[in-house]
Amino acid sequence: MTKVIEKEIPFHLADVGEEEAQAAAEVVRSGWLTMGPKTIEFEQQFAAYVGAKHAVGVNSCTAALHLALDAIGLKPGDEVLVPTTTFTATAEVVTYFKAKPVLVDVDPVSLCIDPADAERRITSRTRAIIPVHFAGQPCEMDAIRDIAACRNLRVIEDAAHALPASYNGIPVGCISELTAFSFYATKTLTTGEGGMVTTDNDDLAKRIRMMRLHGIGRDAWKRYSSEGSWFYEVLDTGFKYNLTDIQSAIGLVQLRKCSQMRDAREAIAARYTDAFSSEEALLAPSVGPCRSSAWHLYVLRLNLDQLTISRAEVIEKLKTRGIGTSVHFIPLHMHPYYRDTYQYHAEDFPVATEQYERYISLPLFPGMTSSQIDYVIENVLAIIHAASR
Ligand SMILES: *Cc1c(COP(=O)(O)O)cnc(C)c1O
Repeated sequence: MTKVIEKEIPFHLADVGEEEAQAAAEVVRSGWLTMGPKTIEFEQQFAAYVGAKHAVGVNSCTAALHLALDAIGLKPGDEVLVPTTTFTATAEVVTYFKAKPVLVDVDPVSLCIDPADAERRITSRTRAIIPVHFAGQPCEMDAIRDIAACRNLRVIEDAAHALPASYNGIPVGCISELTAFSFYATKTLTTGEGGMVTTDNDDLAKRIRMMRLHGIGRDAWKRYSSEGSWFYEVLDTGFKYNLTDIQSAIGLVQLRKCSQMRDAREAIAARYTDAFSSEEALLAPSVGPCRSSAWHLYVLRLNLDQLTISRAEVIEKLKTRGIGTSVHFIPLHMHPYYRDTYQYHAEDFPVATEQYERYISLPLFPGMTSSQIDYVIENVLAIIHAASR
């Protein structure tokens, strides 16, 4: 008998609807489609939301990280510490400067960068560290700040997962000198594609604003508006990284719902954890003390020694039951480019390598219904129970 798929539960479904559609349509009707007043408004509200002095809108988190590294003056031959358990963008941007991404192992509990391992990999060429707030949980920022201060490193946070999140009551976005956010389709606030850099430093903000639009002096976007002027000066060779008003209008609607969407994800995560925490074969994610997670991902770990099947088989079984999942992340040192270019070995990252075999990201999005949550729980438990040793 073939198994009938009772439900289809996608891995992710963005919480966007009529309000976002309306806001985007209004921008289209206004006739001003690119960066303009909506982007300024989005930047101001975003900065206020995370408690930063400046927020600069860009077209991706990758661009945000690139501009942050440009702003600190990264040079060829420099080294930047990056956790191996992340998306390639975090390390890729370092290579734009002919600098070296130095991969770092992660903490076995949080899967965030391990500060002690980061410290061991510092050399005379190390210039910066990019902690990634994995799954939405802030890294050990006190330890990272101490190491950075002591070894004279710049800190750029990859907060692609961490809107909104906080550490010791301080929102992610105003903890370090520079923070990069993502508004990609699957992230906790989406504009389809988009990103933001936040900083309290006027000079860094000025440099990033200039470089996101061709290295033209500030307010380059105004040159076609009624208050603008035809005259402009190119001060450096920059990039075409600006956000548009269509994206920003969607972002403004999303920002108003951001805290509420986080609470919805946290409630779903709590139901998962209630169901999974008593299972010998499972390890539910936990949030460390003095921090609040954005709950971007629910990363469930399998105790493989208790099971007769692999992580890949669990994913396949969930798929045949109509449940979408993902894996965050295939560690960077296991990808051909990083492995071959920098001669990284799995043994150099024992924690990341071992943990990689056992994690699965379950569906987690604000619009999940109670019966969808139950369906995921029932099926995870059924698969695990059938495969218990
Ligand atoms: C999604 C993601 C990025 C890249 O974000 P984009 O906006 O798509 O450029 C960077 N770092 C991490 C950890 C991510 O998950």
